[in-house]
Amino acid sequence: MQKFQMTVLGCGSAVPTSWHSPSGQLVQHHNRQFLIDCGEGTQMQMIRYKVKQTNLNHIFISHLHGDHYFGLIGLMNTLHLMHREKPLHVFAPKDLYEIIHTQLRLSETTLHYPFELHPLEDYKKGATLYENEYMKVTLFPLKHSIAVWGFLFREKTMPPNIDKAFVKRYRPTIKQIHEIKSGADFTIPGGKLIKNEQITIPAPLPRSFAYCSDTAWLESTAHFVKGVNLLYHESTFDNSREELANITLHSTAAQAARVGLKSGAKKLLLGHYSARFKKDIEILQQEAREIFPESYLSNEGETYDI
Ligand SMILES: [Zn+2]
Repeated sequence: MQKFQMTVLGCGSAVPTSWHSPSGQLVQHHNRQFLIDCGEGTQMQMIRYKVKQTNLNHIFISHLHGDHYFGLIGLMNTLHLMHREKPLHVFAPKDLYEIIHTQLRLSETTLHYPFELHPLEDYKKGATLYENEYMKVTLFPLKHSIAVWGFLFREKTMPPNIDKAFVKRYRPTIKQIHEIKSGADFTIPGGKLIKNEQITIPAPLPRSFAYCSDTAWLESTAHFVKGVNLLYHESTFDNSREELANITLHSTAAQAARVGLKSGAKKLLLGHYSARFKKDIEILQQEAREIFPESYLSNEGETYDI
């Protein structure tokens, strides 16, 4: 099975603390790496957790509150200093273009590599942002004080594998292999038919990961992230601060858990913790588990299999 993992680089919210970093997550699928959000210090977290920055070609920024992108210019400058030449694709709100270019212009920095900004406003909800032969990344709407999007990483349904003993014995041609993978039966010399299911092994079920950045509780989210293996949903506050969550358009851990339950997710990761919490952070997990038992606190440096 191909590698499909997510590493938390930061799970704190906007006010800095010495115990959490602002938002940043690294998704690894097969031999590709994707960064989601890039709060201040994200590149330092990447260095700390031994993430190779040169393998990074695609970055997704959920919204333009500083704790989700203030680390981007630093990371981009480092890639420039490392003489990167291949393009860096950044999927982000359109105004990020002006922000980055203003910083580059005033510091008289001409990047060695193309900075390709793909404005999220250009995509309809559910549209594909990125795709390769194994998986794709789509976006979905969330609800916050400024425009914000969530991201869904979903593997494609792969064709079945062909039984090795069969290949060795009957040596099918490339054309026949393609036909078998598409569901065809196989006729052996002499005319006997072998059914497709006798010579194929179904591919593993496609896995998925959803990232729900800053958002108020939103009915539609469960629909967009239906059945994901791993759901990250912000949980800035506990139940006692539900009113504050509603005012600031953030979520409580219990609201995140309701999304987990409604969506049929297998596992929920909580994060984007308010700076108010320190050792008493367990309350978020407790309140979430009352609704959705498979709820867990995320932690910097932890890698989760998807
Ligand atoms: Zn925000």
